[in-house]
Amino acid sequence: MANQDQDILLEVKGLKTYFFLDEGTVKAVDGVDFEIRRQQTLCIVGESGCGKSVTARSILQIVDPPGRIVEGEILYHRRNGNTTEVLNLAAMDPRGQEIRAVRGKEISMIFQEPMTSLSPVHTIGNQIMEAILLHMPVSKNEARDTAIDMLRRVGIPKPESRINDYPFQLSGGMRQRAMIAMALVCRPSLLIADEPTTALDVTTQAQILDLMLELQEEMGMAIMLITHDLGVVAEMADDVVVMYLGHAVERGDVDSIFHDPKHPYTRALLRSIPKVGLKARERLDSIRGMVPDPYHRPAGCPFHTRCDEAIPGVCDRIVPPRIPLGDGREVRCLLYTEEYAGER
Ligand code: SF4
Repeated sequence: MANQDQDILLEVKGLKTYFFLDEGTVKAVDGVDFEIRRQQTLCIVGESGCGKSVTARSILQIVDPPGRIVEGEILYHRRNGNTTEVLNLAAMDPRGQEIRAVRGKEISMIFQEPMTSLSPVHTIGNQIMEAILLHMPVSKNEARDTAIDMLRRVGIPKPESRINDYPFQLSGGMRQRAMIAMALVCRPSLLIADEPTTALDVTTQAQILDLMLELQEEMGMAIMLITHDLGVVAEMADDVVVMYLGHAVERGDVDSIFHDPKHPYTRALLRSIPKVGLKARERLDSIRGMVPDPYHRPAGCPFHTRCDEAIPGVCDRIVPPRIPLGDGREVRCLLYTEEYAGER
């Protein structure tokens, strides 16, 4: 993971996003740090409920109430010719002009289920054209031509007529392509993709991932891909962040994470991938226990209730600090502190 400043597009520092509910406070994101490099793909991986999607929504300031960012910085390094301006997205008003200029233009997002994100009462053409007209000084006819061109590039056949279709007239794969067209039409520097292929069959999933890689190369954008599928991570990622219960427990480049995982949770996730050649009736490895109730987070290390390497009386008391391992790698586990390294 390179650390040269000019390479960095987005830095998330100590981000905390909490939900204030009658039942208590849910610390969905509780002190997360990572960087996204220009033109690279960062995958955020973890089980459901670990805070991946809330992290993504925090970047664009679209966290649903009663959730809000309570601490931390999201530094977006905007390039203007030879100069770079650094904007703190976390400090912007979620409904203000500043974030609106970034959202959809410089940073855009695609969601897991396009049917819930695309308007059912507007044609896909109108929705793509709206994004263009909002951010670019062009006429309606020019916007329509750009939308048709984008639909063609994402592989929608006969875009001149499909532009007039409503989302329900398209298949799941075609809807996801239309969503990608809408997200990329303003040529963003960063595309956030939140489980973009989970609802699709395996063949369409592979086509959509290939399409994203192709457009990334063509447009030179960075991708932040949220997934729980380690196969997708292996195929797409340059860098990886592993999240558990609102914490980034490990981060590093994809080869190090797959070949030399440090955190017990990362190791458990990798062990749970089904292997080719497994004998009939042989049990798959799984991570014991369940993700804890978000209203009653365990004290100390959030993973200690499920960790096979937990140190009794220590891991249930002390919150592990961020421990740099060199080359941009980082882990949050007490086994890598000087004091408890002997327990490894
Ligand atoms: Fe396991 Fe302790 Fe490390 Fe947490 S700090 S991952 S409980 S060994």
